[in-house]
Amino acid sequence: MRYDSVIESLANKRECVFFNPNIAAADEALSELSITTADTADAEGRLLRFAPVIEKAFPDTVQAHGIIESPLVRVNNLGRQFGSIELLLKCDSDLPVAGSVKARGGVYEVLLHAEKLATDAGLLHADDDYSILVTDELRRFFKKYSIHVGSTGNLGLSIGITSAALGFNPTVHMSADAREWKKQKLRSCGVTVKEYPGEYSQAVSEGRTLSKKDPYSYFVDDESSLPLLLGYSTAAGRLAAQLSDMGVTVDRDHPLFVCIPCGVGGAPAGIAFGLKCIYKDDVHIFYAEPTGSPCMLLSLATELGAGICVQDIGLSGRTHADGLAVGRSSALAYEVSKKLVSGVITIDDAKLYENLRLLYSTEGIFAEPSACASFVCAESANKGLLDDYMKKHCKTDAVPTFIAWLTGGSMVPQEIKQEYLATVL
Ligand SMILES: *Cc1c(COP(=O)(O)O)cnc(C)c1O
Repeated sequence: MRYDSVIESLANKRECVFFNPNIAAADEALSELSITTADTADAEGRLLRFAPVIEKAFPDTVQAHGIIESPLVRVNNLGRQFGSIELLLKCDSDLPVAGSVKARGGVYEVLLHAEKLATDAGLLHADDDYSILVTDELRRFFKKYSIHVGSTGNLGLSIGITSAALGFNPTVHMSADAREWKKQKLRSCGVTVKEYPGEYSQAVSEGRTLSKKDPYSYFVDDESSLPLLLGYSTAAGRLAAQLSDMGVTVDRDHPLFVCIPCGVGGAPAGIAFGLKCIYKDDVHIFYAEPTGSPCMLLSLATELGAGICVQDIGLSGRTHADGLAVGRSSALAYEVSKKLVSGVITIDDAKLYENLRLLYSTEGIFAEPSACASFVCAESANKGLLDDYMKKHCKTDAVPTFIAWLTGGSMVPQEIKQEYLATVL
């Protein structure tokens, strides 16, 4: 088999840099997908209509008038650690509502569902001011409906907090890797938390089964949800505006390398899709996965998509990167990624904590362990591991800009932050 050596590295939990052999020109790859820029535009429009609702329901969005967005920051001190590259951080760790990238997809899917229910019941019309959705009448209406989701933690926070705020009856099905504080936070918001001893896909499938039995229930299916993915894809246009405001050019001479931590794949695939639609072949997307649970790399290398899981090659799937502790990638995310993503780079758990400390000591920024996988692209470039890739895909004198996507962290309680900062594996 062609990828024997890759699989052997994965099975032995060795860090690897995998280049996607099926990468195609952006136009070709995009033309084969069932989603288009119009779908992202539709999601962007819906988020704008909902901005008054978000502003009313979530005080931390008031300043931005209900737009859930995060800063893009230039980090020269950290960039110097990787050979003085041009490095930017996309701080989704600071996203309002849920403190992680899940605030993009999760909030969006709940709003979409709320819009549909209220519209079907004649309680909302297209030209209404959507802020009527946060009234006592609507809360009583939504109370009849439950929303279920399986989660390793952050998706549960995003879906749970949003649906509770609108008045829904949310249940989050948590896998074994979920951190205790995330469960406590959810319970304090009135969310029902069910715990499972097993892996992520077990929590998802239990949630799916329970939800199916209840006609008033809606299941947010992280393993196949198009709304989630489209919610994530809206990040791209926002990022493009930020880059342009900062005077960062993206073109053939200035390629953009974006590294996004990957769990089931929905968030990175959605963002990758959005960015490819905008920057085409001038953007190069790398996913980052923990060596303990490299499900998307396995899907891409074997070309089996969701037909293979890390347990099939003898891995337990356990990792300190709780947001990435997923054994099987999403079929949808795989389809979107398979010709768009440049590669996947894996990282040891011990390094996640080293990166966490490095980020904190150089820039005073805190991110959770999963998010700290996002430096692998900058690090690999610094080690020369991307040289061949760049020779093949970029102009010889091109000057790249790197973005590390910090996917989560601001909601981590103070004492757990201290614990993370002190963790040496
Ligand atoms: C969920 C998550 C990811 C990855 O998103 P997927 O859609 O699962 O691939 C990355 N980082 C953090 C912190 C997350 O919570």
